[in-house]
Amino acid sequence: MSGGFDLGGRRVWVAGHRGMVGAAVCRRLAGEDCTLLTVGRERLDLRDQRAVLDWMRDQRPDVVVLAAARVGGIHANDSQPAVFLYENLMIEANIIEAARQTAVERLLFLGSSCIYPRLAEQPIRESSLLTGPLEPTNQWYAVAKIAGIKLCQAYRRQYGCRFISAMPANLYGPGDNFDLTTSHVLPALMRKIHEAAERGAETVEVWGTGRPRREFLHVDDLADALLFLLRHYDGEEPVNVGTGEDIAIADLARTLADVVGWSGRIVYDPGKPDGTPRKVMDVSRLADLGWTARIGLTEGLASTYAWFRSNSGTLRQSRPVVVPAA
Ligand code: GDP
Repeated sequence: MSGGFDLGGRRVWVAGHRGMVGAAVCRRLAGEDCTLLTVGRERLDLRDQRAVLDWMRDQRPDVVVLAAARVGGIHANDSQPAVFLYENLMIEANIIEAARQTAVERLLFLGSSCIYPRLAEQPIRESSLLTGPLEPTNQWYAVAKIAGIKLCQAYRRQYGCRFISAMPANLYGPGDNFDLTTSHVLPALMRKIHEAAERGAETVEVWGTGRPRREFLHVDDLADALLFLLRHYDGEEPVNVGTGEDIAIADLARTLADVVGWSGRIVYDPGKPDGTPRKVMDVSRLADLGWTARIGLTEGLASTYAWFRSNSGTLRQSRPVVVPAA
C-alpha cells in the first residue's frame, strides 16, 4: 500500500457515466482539478475490444473509474443470466486490457457485495471471497465481477499495473433505476409506496418474507470513497465500501413509508425470492485507511425521495435488454 496519488491535472475517464455510480463520480470529480472524460454508448460499444482500444488510444486517460456494467435487481439477474454474464465480462476485460496497452496509471474497478459467498460469515470480510457457493439468483453477475477483481490482480502481478477494486454495499440515491421489474429493493419500494400514497391505496406488496437484511450506501458516499481509494490505496486486495450497518427489508419498508408519509399496510409475497439472508460488510479495511460513510439512512432516504419526486416525470420506465448481434 502507498498513499498520495495526485489527481491534479490528470485525464480521468469515468466509464459508465450515465449510470447511478458513474454520474455520482462525475459530480464528485467536478470540484477536482482534473479533466473528466466520458463517452456514451451510442459512440462507443464497451463490448467491442477494438473500439475500446482505439478510443483509449485517442483519448489517453491517465485514470479510469470502471463503473460501466449491466446491473439489475434480483429478478433481472435471475431472468437474464446470459446478458449479465456476457456483457459484464466483455466490458471489464476490454477496458482492463486496453488500460494496460495504453499505460493507464490507475484503474478502479467496481465490484459488488454480491461477489461474496451466500452464507459468508457476517459482517463479510474481503478475505471471504471464493470461500463458498454464491447466491444462485445473482451468480451470473457475481461470477463476472469476480473475474474483474481477478483481472486487476493478475494485471498487477504480471504487468505491474496499479489497478484496484472496490466492493460497494447495495447502493441508492439520485439517478437510481426505479423500474419495478429490473430495480433493486430500495428504489422499488420507494416508488411503490409513493404511488400508493398518491392513489390512496391501503396496501403495498413487498417481495419475499421481509426478513432478509441488507446494507445500503448512498451513492454520493460511494463516490467520495472511490476518490479516496484512488488517492490512498494501491493494493491487490479488494476494499469493501459500506456503512457496516444493515436493516431488515420489512424495517426498510416501514422507514420508507415514514419518509413518504404513507400509513398503509405492508403485505408480503413469499412467492418471490428472498435471495441471500443477510448481506452486511466488514468495512474495517477502509476505516483503517481513514474513510467512513457520512450519509445516514434516514437522511439519505429523505434526499433521494426529494430527488425522485422532482424527477419522477422523466424517469425511464424500463430498460431494454441489449442483445449482442450474432
Ligand atoms: P439483492 O440484494 O441482490 O438480493 O437484490 P434486491 O435489492 O433486488 O433485493 C433485496 C431483497 O429485497 C430481496 O430479499 C428481495 O426479495 C426484497 N424485495 C422486496 N420487495 C422488492 C421489490 O419490490 N423489488 C426488489 N428488487 N426486491 C424486493
